[in-house]
Amino acid sequence: MDTAKCRKKALFVDRDGVIVIEDQIDSYERIIYKPHVFEALRAISRETDYELVMVSNQDGVGTPSFPYESFAGPMERILETLAGEDIAFDDINVDYSLPEDGCPGRKPGIAMLSDYLDGSYDLASSFMIGDRLTDMELARNLGAKGIWYTDKKMEIPEEYSSVIALNATSWLDIAAFLACKGIETHRTAEISRDTRETKIRLKADLDGTGKGRIETGIGFFDHMLDQVVKHSRCDISGTVDGDLFVDFHHTVEDTALVLGEAVLSALGEKRGVERYGSAVVTMDDTVALAAIDFSGRPEFMGSFRFDYDYIGDFPTELIRHFFRSFSSAARCNLYLEATEGGDSHHTAEALFKAFARALRKAVRRIPGETGISSTKGVL
Ligand SMILES: [Mg+2]
Repeated sequence: MDTAKCRKKALFVDRDGVIVIEDQIDSYERIIYKPHVFEALRAISRETDYELVMVSNQDGVGTPSFPYESFAGPMERILETLAGEDIAFDDINVDYSLPEDGCPGRKPGIAMLSDYLDGSYDLASSFMIGDRLTDMELARNLGAKGIWYTDKKMEIPEEYSSVIALNATSWLDIAAFLACKGIETHRTAEISRDTRETKIRLKADLDGTGKGRIETGIGFFDHMLDQVVKHSRCDISGTVDGDLFVDFHHTVEDTALVLGEAVLSALGEKRGVERYGSAVVTMDDTVALAAIDFSGRPEFMGSFRFDYDYIGDFPTELIRHFFRSFSSAARCNLYLEATEGGDSHHTAEALFKAFARALRKAVRRIPGETGISSTKGVL
């Protein structure tokens, strides 16, 4: 029998900076919860088999500057509120000492957590969620992994690279990482790019429903970008103020670059992401095929041609340039093909639709998957 499978798993959770925003809460007024903490912890406690264990340092509780009553009332209120949201902690561990006391129970010490060290817990599959590197140190001391919860994305220090399994900036990321299927997270990016040729503002949400519009001032191009938004089911909106008095080149190129950059940024580490996507789209007299691989390497291959050099006032050569620029900025392999002889507008539209449908599949998250879809472990 595999004893590892029978052992319990724990989710050690810091309180201050993780469940509530402020540190050392000594009054009810200072209880402000972190966004989404209730829905995420509820999903974790319902859908996973982690025991919830609170681990907190509360410096100097019981001293005149932090009387026990000032700590206990707000703490009780926090636990009651969590319980009211169907979130019950299995165990609460609070250390009241001051840093200078050097108590072995104070994080990152693990003396308070001896119950978890008797072999009945699979600590290698357990996590410590905390906002400080001392919390990650605690994870290391336990033989667990750390989830470092910070306000913005951080560079993981080299010495913590083997301990920190995730740097999360939202409770929703944490719940998704712990494979809670009911949690809806949004992978988003917002890009501003100003050059002498174009000024672009663009927002993208890969977990959208196909809402939004990119306005470039080029009617045909906007129509093609509408197809991208609609058929990718990404919410994308933005404005492009380009030097159209020169020609359309800079506007088309920079729109593709910013769109690619936004998709790449929103994909983040690409955890749990499909990575590959392909689609075949037919449109009247044309069939177009698209294949995408978010491999981290840019490559574009386009096997299509147009019978006419212009669609309205739009040069058809810019269509190839758009896709090449996108693959370069999104660092993806992109292959596009279309049958010959079709109406040029149909060929272009089928290509954009096939691209969007392939994109939709490639950025899709696999429910419950937290790994990276590569034998290298990185994309
Ligand atoms: Mg903290």
